Amino acid sequence: MTSSLTEDMILDALKNVSVEGSVIDLVATGHVSGVVIKDGNIGFSLEVDPEDAEAIQPLRIAAEQAVMKIPGVLSATAMLTAHKKPEPQQQPQAGGASSQGVMHQPARHIIAVASGKGGVGKSTTAINLALAIKAMGMKVGVLDADIYGPSLPRLTGVNQKPEAENNKLIPLEAFGMKVMSIGFLMDEAAPTIWRGPMVMSALEQMLKDVAWGDLDVLVIDMPPGTGDAQLTLSQRAKLSGAVIVSTPQDLALIDARKGLNMFLKVGVPVLGIVENMSYFVCPSCGDTSHIFGHGGAETEAQRLSVPFLGKIPLEMDIRAHSDAGTPIVASQPDSPHAKAYQDIAKIVMERLPQEERAAPSITIN
Ligand code: ADP
Repeated sequence: MTSSLTEDMILDALKNVSVEGSVIDLVATGHVSGVVIKDGNIGFSLEVDPEDAEAIQPLRIAAEQAVMKIPGVLSATAMLTAHKKPEPQQQPQAGGASSQGVMHQPARHIIAVASGKGGVGKSTTAINLALAIKAMGMKVGVLDADIYGPSLPRLTGVNQKPEAENNKLIPLEAFGMKVMSIGFLMDEAAPTIWRGPMVMSALEQMLKDVAWGDLDVLVIDMPPGTGDAQLTLSQRAKLSGAVIVSTPQDLALIDARKGLNMFLKVGVPVLGIVENMSYFVCPSCGDTSHIFGHGGAETEAQRLSVPFLGKIPLEMDIRAHSDAGTPIVASQPDSPHAKAYQDIAKIVMERLPQEERAAPSITIN
């Protein structure tokens, strides 16, 4: 009986580990690094930050229990192995040109949420996806890189000047995530006119001069559009992947295509397209209306061979919660609208390139 155990069976069990009332996918979080099967005796490694070793004990026990439930398993042993923290300091880049530098990698995975144009719900999608990833058990940061219209202060209800320590800005905390926005640093009433070089230096600082700590995932809310700032940011931030948000309208899709091409050009994997404001469910009669047309993003995604990540309805609650600083995934995590984001977050995490778990330093070109 025991000979039929496979690595996939073990990994499947580790994707559904129940601990303290929530279910954690240890494969998606990048914790699982090796599985050994010997006559029904299973061993696997869980990569953890040495500082977290104590806190991870319940998770380790839960992981072993999950594997023990597989028929045919006689014993399950999880070994904790140290996950190397990224270097906190900038280092000179070997052989690099003088204008280049190596930057501290703020997270194991950096995900950009982008759109071809403004107003399609990119920021709303970014914060709700970040919250859904956090709920999967990960340490998450959100960088609002939309310097033209920073929305993180409004979306989180958090807005104060970040403190600085050792020449680094300390990110603020919102819903258990580290958050940083140019909006925290500027006076909202005084709109800033950004010139090209200022844009890049502001964005660069937000990436490298912020004490992000040791994050599993950093979600970047990109500036809308596909201009130079977006292109340079995509190149320099060493993105693990990009999520493109589009409404079903044709015009937005044309813009979404531009976004797609931009990431392809700089070799960043496009994790998929989200169709936002996809349909409207009438609150009084329950009928579904496709106000902006329907399925445009899905058809387009198929045509372009890019994964379709899912649809988010046009929903008054989503807007009201966004604008009140209580994003729906945080304030109503059990609602169907929150579930739409949670489902997308799950696919996003599954699609992240696995080899980037090793927290390499990142290069600025
Ligand atoms: P962008 O970042 O693309 O400019 P925002 O996320 O700021 O867009 O969204 C623009 C407006 O649309 C905001 O008022 C937001 O609350 C609202 N919004 C975004 N997504 C939805 C949705 N699915 N349903 C209803 N309103 C939405």
